[in-house]
Amino acid sequence: MEALLKINSETCIACYACVRACPVKAIRVQTEQVKPEIIPQRCIGCGSCVAVCGPGAIEIRNSKDELQKILRAGKKVAALVDPSIAGEFPDITDYRKFVQMLRTLGFHYVHEVAFGVDLVARAYAKLFEETKGKYYIMSNDPVTVSFVEKYRTGLVPNLAPIMPPVAATASVVRKIAGEEVGLVHISPLIASKDEIRRFKGASRIDLAITFVELRELFIEANIHETDLEYSDFDAPLGYKGSFFPVANGIIQAAGLEEELHLTPVLTVEGEGMINALNEFEENIGTIKHHFNLFYKEFLMGRGTSAGGKRFLRQSQLIKYVEKRFKTLDRGSWSASMDEFETLDLKHTFRTDDQSLPVPSDSKLKKILKDLDQLNPSAVGCGACGYASCTDFAIAIAQGLAIPEMCNTYASRNRQDHIRSLKISNEKLAQAQDLLKKSERLAQKENEAAREASEIVRRMLHKLPSMVVICDMNLKIIQTNDSFIHMLGEDAKEINEVVPGLTGADLKTLLPYNFYNLFTYVLVHNESITNRDIQHESKMLNVSIFVIEKEKIVGAVIRDMSAPEVQKEEVVKRLTEVIDKNLGLAQQIGFILGEGTSETERMLNSIVESYKLGKDLKDR
Ligand code: SF4
Ligand code: SF4
Repeated sequence: MEALLKINSETCIACYACVRACPVKAIRVQTEQVKPEIIPQRCIGCGSCVAVCGPGAIEIRNSKDELQKILRAGKKVAALVDPSIAGEFPDITDYRKFVQMLRTLGFHYVHEVAFGVDLVARAYAKLFEETKGKYYIMSNDPVTVSFVEKYRTGLVPNLAPIMPPVAATASVVRKIAGEEVGLVHISPLIASKDEIRRFKGASRIDLAITFVELRELFIEANIHETDLEYSDFDAPLGYKGSFFPVANGIIQAAGLEEELHLTPVLTVEGEGMINALNEFEENIGTIKHHFNLFYKEFLMGRGTSAGGKRFLRQSQLIKYVEKRFKTLDRGSWSASMDEFETLDLKHTFRTDDQSLPVPSDSKLKKILKDLDQLNPSAVGCGACGYASCTDFAIAIAQGLAIPEMCNTYASRNRQDHIRSLKISNEKLAQAQDLLKKSERLAQKENEAAREASEIVRRMLHKLPSMVVICDMNLKIIQTNDSFIHMLGEDAKEINEVVPGLTGADLKTLLPYNFYNLFTYVLVHNESITNRDIQHESKMLNVSIFVIEKEKIVGAVIRDMSAPEVQKEEVVKRLTEVIDKNLGLAQQIGFILGEGTSETERMLNSIVESYKLGKDLKDR
């Protein structure tokens, strides 16, 4: 079954107010998940955590859907109503309207738990009367009982072996309405939701819902007292058991003496219950009283609406009881008490020790040192939820808390963190500066590269020689105007649409014998220089060279019929002739023993004359 309480980590703000409020440290915080969680087996269902949780992050197991199922299951269902109802529903003018509202909701029977209180009170009076030398802790409050079973296990034998009033009422109703009747406890406590699981046999109860849930159910079902007639509780009705919601109500119901020097029972209500148990454990031989303990009076139980005023509720309860007394048929009540005199009210308890091992001194010292709390007796600020730094260190050792819950520790860590953040930030700023500088540098380099590329592009276009650069698929990357001009009119038109013929296929622009030279260079990675090719009416001199291996090649093409090329070519080729002749003459001279200066002089004069612009054609 789902746990009674659950913390919603979405809405929890990790304020640890619940840790502070929990009287048994049933809420732990683990390193991995800074948000707290409730340990169900340690929880006693007191609801203190729910009361202090500002964002309402602690969710109580909802029983409304389960109630609807029970009411629709087809069998008769009885509501067992706690007498605290008068404090919870002051807005309902007459309790009989309230009874009718319950019947309208779907309950066939509506019984008061007050009669069960009367039965149980009588059993206590008898027990105290008959017991000599042993002192009991009255076991009507499920929170107190759970606390004893889990955290004061040595006192379990002192829990009075009498069932709580609601279980007694369940046994009575089952006798009247039959074994098959469904029973639902309407309670001011959230702890009742788990408490009913203890009741077996004739006292078993199917479900417990809180007053808050009942209020919501009335609203959801649109049930209002104004639309309804009066209806009374089903018999047997309760008498002084109606005082039960006030801590000493059951003492009055039992008819026990309350004067200080005569009473056999001491009543304690609130968190003082824990100290009372401590004293019971230590000094009962001297105290010699039974204890009537409530962690919280039922009137103000955690299943009632928030914001209720303690004494206002008490006055409403008393008014309600007075009204009931006026109409109560005492004779019938006595007869019912007689009828159920032999009802078995015996109850047993179990030990469910939840105490944790106490850590060693050395371990505690180490934790306190880590926390920077070197004075173990220090009371502490309480922000962590523990009474002293030592208690907090014990909780850390027991796995219930983490150092980060300590404000001093967290703030020191925060400062360390801030310092390291500061250093990282400075480093980051330096890195950003460097990055900006490199960006500026890269920008400048880009601009320079762009300018250089533009200059090269312009130079390329000014060259009288034809230039073409293409990729491995013979697609043009770059050309110049001379090359486009050489290709003819079609190419010029294309150039207007696609400047530089970028992307055009060389194979469609040049004949096979021409573009095949490009393929050769790409495939063999071997440049071709000064290859003469006849293209249309022109003799072209072609040099193709590798720019990027197997990927990009470039070609410089010269039109041999152009005057400047002719001149340059003749000079070049004559220079080659001179060099060749000179070599030959030197060899002959070497053989013949004659100088070659005359030949050299003659040939040089030819070269010079060309350089000086003489018309080669004329010559
Ligand atoms: S009281 Fe507890 S559950 Fe509620 S917000 Fe604070 S830490 Fe979270
Ligand atoms: S209900 Fe009580 S015992 Fe359970 S976690 Fe909340 S404060 Fe602790």
